[in-house]
Amino acid sequence: MNNPNPLNQREGEKKSAEVPSFHPAMENLQSALKDYSLSVSTVPEKGRSLFASRDFYPGDVIIGQEPYVCVPNNSSLSTPKRCDGCFITSDVLRRCSRCHVAYYCGTACQRSEWKLHRLECEVVSRLDKDKRKSVTPSIRLMVRLYLRRKLQDDKVTPSTAMDNYNLVEALVAHMSDITEEQLVLYAQMANLVYSILKWPEINIKEIAENFSKFACNAHTICDNELRPVGTGLYPVISIINHSCLPNSVLVFEGRSALVRAVQHIPAGTEVVISYIETAGSTITRQKALKEQYLFTCTCPRCSKMGQKDDIQESEILEGYRCKNEKCGGFLLRTTDGKGFQCQGCQLVMGKEEIKEIITEIELLSEEAASKSSFSCSYQEVISIYKKIEKLQTKLYHPFSINLMQTREKILKSLMELEHWTEALAYCKLTIPFYEKVYPSVHPLLGLQYYTCGKLEWYLGETEEAVKSLTKAVDILRITHGTNTRFMKDLLMKLEEARAEASCKWSSIHC
Ligand SMILES: [Zn+2]
Ligand SMILES: [Zn+2]
Ligand SMILES: [Zn+2]
Ligand SMILES: [Zn+2]
Repeated sequence: MNNPNPLNQREGEKKSAEVPSFHPAMENLQSALKDYSLSVSTVPEKGRSLFASRDFYPGDVIIGQEPYVCVPNNSSLSTPKRCDGCFITSDVLRRCSRCHVAYYCGTACQRSEWKLHRLECEVVSRLDKDKRKSVTPSIRLMVRLYLRRKLQDDKVTPSTAMDNYNLVEALVAHMSDITEEQLVLYAQMANLVYSILKWPEINIKEIAENFSKFACNAHTICDNELRPVGTGLYPVISIINHSCLPNSVLVFEGRSALVRAVQHIPAGTEVVISYIETAGSTITRQKALKEQYLFTCTCPRCSKMGQKDDIQESEILEGYRCKNEKCGGFLLRTTDGKGFQCQGCQLVMGKEEIKEIITEIELLSEEAASKSSFSCSYQEVISIYKKIEKLQTKLYHPFSINLMQTREKILKSLMELEHWTEALAYCKLTIPFYEKVYPSVHPLLGLQYYTCGKLEWYLGETEEAVKSLTKAVDILRITHGTNTRFMKDLLMKLEEARAEASCKWSSIHC
């Protein structure tokens, strides 16, 4: 569950999922969105879409929304747990003594969650110990969806134009497109929810349909460094469609979702975010969108599929490189299918030759994965990944995703071991990749500059640190705003690095 599908209908689904435009909930939403200078329109083939009715500029918050329901991704095994209210993690969280599923950082969060948790606590605490273990975050999210609806039905909590169950009802479920396997899974999960709630008035089929809605509409809530911390349902944010060339970005502050413009969005333009990792070939992106969100992307990047520059971009990201080191061309399968030919110098590489290297990489990856489960063996893991890196440089382009992912793993392990000098070297190796595959304002690029800057500063390379941290700030102030503690820390680090740099400079020249 990542970013959402809009509350709309897709091709082949027009009849079942269409929500009439005269639906009072939709009219209320439309007028509430006016205050944000936004409007919802139905676009052929895309369904409901969100449009800007004024110009937005990089860094502008287009819309923010609190979750209809959300849950931190605490599992029975995960430690430390996260607070239900603010999602922070800490070793001193207090667990609800009655149900044992809710955790709080303090009384403020416990109080803010109480209305909903009171009902949740009641149904969960009557389960026996074994059954309580089956209350995973996804099950909790569904139980909470029904409890939240009940709170609004009973007028315990208010309903507003942007916060009501009708908006959840309007989300697409894609029931006709999901596999038999998924249907069975959703039915089992629905049964479990039904047996927890024990409400005669809800039916299992509706719960199963809501699980399908969650699959393509719920969002993974991430922290400022884009690490997943929970899952939430934001029915208005879900109206925003996907593009592989997005003009906006979705970030979270705690559990509030915020959509910020990363480009100038002229009035009348559709607001689009990306639901998936955009650094991938067109085939990979299309596959991810089809599998998880059940639609075919027709964005400007995807409509170039098969054209010369799309082939080149995709091959560099995921294809093989010419084995002549001086060439740098990319390979395409020969017409007889027996090998791959360089599109630069025409040199042919046999299928077997490639397969041999790939098999070797796969064996090493398995070894690394089995060692990674023991945190004591970072050093061993690093040496295996370095072998993989060496093989991958033979096979893939310098801007290959596979190679970058290996370097990311090495970087992470080096950071764990606090081998800062080498970590910095690896961080610097990944930056050209980030600069090439992401647009100039992308949170991942900003975060990578941030890591680089922190390492440089720590290692006393103050002037370099100022440069990297400045680049990080230039991007992250647009994608993340400047209000969070995370950004205040970054801005303070930059100030300190600047002061230190000018101090060093003056001491040299005195
Ligand atoms: Zn909290
Ligand atoms: Zn409880
Ligand atoms: Zn696309
Ligand atoms: Zn070549």
